[in-house]
Amino acid sequence: MDRVRSQIPLLEDAHRRALKYICEIADRRVFPDEGALQGLAAFDEALPQDSTGGLETLRLLDERGSPATVATAGGRYFGFVVGGSIPVATAADWLVTAWDQTGTLPVSSPAVAKIEAVAGRWVREVLGLPEEAVTSFVTGASMANLLGLAAARTHLLHRAGYDLERLGMFGAPPIRVVAGAEVHSTLLKVLGVLGFGRDRVELVEADAQGRLRADRLPPLDERTIVLLQAGNVNSGAFDPFADVIAAARRARSWVHVDGAFGLWAAATPKYAQLTEGVEDADSWAVDAHKWLNVPYDSAMLICRHGDALQAAMRLTAAYAPSTAEMPAKDLTLEFSRRARGVPVWAALRTLGRSGVADLVEQCSSNARLLASGLERIGFEIHNEVVLNQVVASIGDAEFTAAVRSKVERDGGCWFGPTQWKGRDAVRFSVSSWATTAEDIEAAVNAIASAVESLSAQRPGITRT
Ligand SMILES: *Cc1c(COP(=O)(O)O)cnc(C)c1O
Repeated sequence: MDRVRSQIPLLEDAHRRALKYICEIADRRVFPDEGALQGLAAFDEALPQDSTGGLETLRLLDERGSPATVATAGGRYFGFVVGGSIPVATAADWLVTAWDQTGTLPVSSPAVAKIEAVAGRWVREVLGLPEEAVTSFVTGASMANLLGLAAARTHLLHRAGYDLERLGMFGAPPIRVVAGAEVHSTLLKVLGVLGFGRDRVELVEADAQGRLRADRLPPLDERTIVLLQAGNVNSGAFDPFADVIAAARRARSWVHVDGAFGLWAAATPKYAQLTEGVEDADSWAVDAHKWLNVPYDSAMLICRHGDALQAAMRLTAAYAPSTAEMPAKDLTLEFSRRARGVPVWAALRTLGRSGVADLVEQCSSNARLLASGLERIGFEIHNEVVLNQVVASIGDAEFTAAVRSKVERDGGCWFGPTQWKGRDAVRFSVSSWATTAEDIEAAVNAIASAVESLSAQRPGITRT
């Protein structure tokens, strides 16, 4: 009993510190200042010889760690495609941590097995994907892409009479991979890891927005994997699903969709024209930690052919029999893993269909607001803002980079550098429930004052 009770002060202290962090986030700098970065030196300690109470450890973590975090959970962070975490997802994640259960087998946690089964079905429903597909809970879209390509490879090779899992890739019938020129870097990495080779992918020309050009598609066949994209990481653009998937179906190719953040557009009829036809693919990767706004790390691979995924990922061990029809351990690479489907369930149950649609629509309308604010202060917008992503620049590459660094130093908001169609630019992703129209206004004001002070210092700089 003492052992149990002795945890309470520590957990209460963590709770109190976490609440303070969350409550103060709206008022703090987005990127830490120099003092906070220097404070990290406090972690350069020797590994302690003896045990201490946890309170002191927690104090160090909070006093020196928290100030040197980036305020990605606040409303003025627009870097990468990071998203935030809605309160119920954070809260459910805390409870999952207290449970400390693995999502491996029903016998290791009946609760997790049940809740993840429901969450998996709801994810397919809200995205309009086939009911008969299976959903795997994984760490991120990188892993979801890996699972999708592994299932694709198994499916195509088994159909050719080749037992890949026993015989391996050496001597296997060749498989072609076709992707748009703007394919995400994580898919190229996956191609390397799985033995397809990064350089063997057949890249199809993309248009000005980064969409694969369907009229440039090479002939497809029954041993081809086609990689499509829902949401270009810069522009937010969508590949033309209906045309390409129809061609792939005729050729009996496998279509995998990387929908890391963009696939959530399928949750609202407002963006139906972007995702039209996407439901006819074979596998889909989608993040939960980006746009569904659950804590890291969380994503799903949804696969129409559960048998192929299971054949690729099956784990055989006498002590872990596959009693259920498709246990989670046979649908993911991990054996032991966090019950990461539970916060996904909590988010979907609490938001409902309309709440997910609102989240997508709110972020996208804030992205349009941001784009017009940036234009007003002299930026050029380089993409059609079809969803939540904005690519922009001001003046030349050097001035754009200087503005970005100054805004980071000032702490008013954060956005990252990128390259778009061969030119240096900056990229904004509006992907958090926490971002309000007021945050957008404050961010534009912060950027405007950086532009003003830099223009004053360097009067000769090219301005558009
Ligand atoms: C972020 C992203 C990925 C990688 O997702 P992780 O969850 O970071 O592994 C893949 N594709 C696209 C389009 C992305 O935006």
